[in-house]
Amino acid sequence: MGKNKPYIFEIEKIESILKERKPKKILIQIPDGLKKSFYNTLDVLKEKYGNVEFIISSDPAYGACFLAENEALNLNADLLVHVGHTEYYRPSFSNVVYVGAYSTLKPSTDMIRSLISYVKSKGIEKVGLSYVIQHKPIVNYVKNILEQESLRVLIGKKSGYVKYDGQIIGCDYSTAVKVNNYVDAHIVICGGYFHAIGLGLATMKPVIKLDPYTNSFEDISKTVKRYLSVRYAKIMRSLDAKKYGVIVGARKGQYRSELIKFLIKLIKSRGLEYELFSADILTIDVLRNIDRDDIDAYMVTSCPRLPIDDLGEFEKPVLTPGEAIMVLTGNLDKYRFPW
Ligand code: SF4
Repeated sequence: MGKNKPYIFEIEKIESILKERKPKKILIQIPDGLKKSFYNTLDVLKEKYGNVEFIISSDPAYGACFLAENEALNLNADLLVHVGHTEYYRPSFSNVVYVGAYSTLKPSTDMIRSLISYVKSKGIEKVGLSYVIQHKPIVNYVKNILEQESLRVLIGKKSGYVKYDGQIIGCDYSTAVKVNNYVDAHIVICGGYFHAIGLGLATMKPVIKLDPYTNSFEDISKTVKRYLSVRYAKIMRSLDAKKYGVIVGARKGQYRSELIKFLIKLIKSRGLEYELFSADILTIDVLRNIDRDDIDAYMVTSCPRLPIDDLGEFEKPVLTPGEAIMVLTGNLDKYRFPW
């Protein structure tokens, strides 16, 4: 691994399959943010396995829920390599390998000590520690420093859609929720705000983001509160809706039949109407194209982050599954996220 490469890819996983199963055509699915970092690894593979055809999928790869199974079938690929996420559901396509992409960046000890001083100044003694998969290799390093400075650190056991203890993804914070009653705050190792905000919405506890990319930390609790007030405004605007648009995920990993049945049952039980739409990639333009005048609000069952992160500017309220359940059951006191 050269110094300038920010990620280590589990190339050995691909190589062992190349040696054992000898695939001839491989489709590689990789998140947009990792595509360019992966090209050196791809060149190494192409050099070593000259008789294999490698194809990079240009589509976005938001999560392992968005597995390019159909693309692999249509292209007659005999192996689908999904980079950067852990398995989310059992795919129909039989030959899938999940390849880790791990950041090589590490927050400095001094910076983590500053974080510890900050949390102690807030009277915080017990923290939940979670991370996104790219930063798994540094979890014990961070945990040890936190514990050396006499913070109590709890890491929740794996469950739901995640593979490892303490891991979180955009729609599953169950590891952090498991320890939520025993901690004063959560520390999450991640870049950007996406996962940290989700963690705040799912736990309603203070969240401090430890960012290996910027070697900095940030208490994002106020940002979470701002998001929460926007979400409650959408919920309140939906309370008088007579007809809902229910968006169903067209990808297998985002098609949640039980959830859809449950929401439709709730809609019917309240004497309301609904219209079903399916979507592979749901954007605000897609929503504007399908919108009907008689629909008052939408609920998105594919990915619970879309209403919050991508569709907040849409003219009508767009709800996550958890918010839709709040509205349809009238249980508004406790914010329900994500499901
Ligand atoms: S459903 Fe959304 S948040 Fe969950 S893994 Fe898929 S893209 Fe990520």
